[in-house]
Amino acid sequence: MDIECPYCEKEMVICHDDGFGYEEGVKHHYTCDHCDKSFVFETSIRFYYEPEKADCLNDKDHEYKISSTYPTEFSTMRCKMCGDERELTEDEKTEHKIGSKEDYFKKLYDQ
Ligand SMILES: [Zn+2]
Ligand SMILES: [Zn+2]
Repeated sequence: MDIECPYCEKEMVICHDDGFGYEEGVKHHYTCDHCDKSFVFETSIRFYYEPEKADCLNDKDHEYKISSTYPTEFSTMRCKMCGDERELTEDEKTEHKIGSKEDYFKKLYDQ
């Protein structure tokens, strides 16, 4: 299987030793054999690759977007480029009007 680097557009073969890169719906990280930049790819059925640029793996900032989780207290921030997930910061909780998980459980048990 060949994959085209989204940065230098050269083709390379993904090494699937140990089953790497076979899992579907996950952004796999890979470093280009030619230009040495990192990018992500998603594998779909029939092992078709969808390469996307992932600048955050090349010394740029992640682009976190809030997940649409219900209850909203359990929302996470997910990088739309590399798929990295992290907890919301206090500022982001205020910005998105999201309460803490502790408050959520308190509300739950107070009823
Ligand atoms: Zn490349
Ligand atoms: Zn990222």
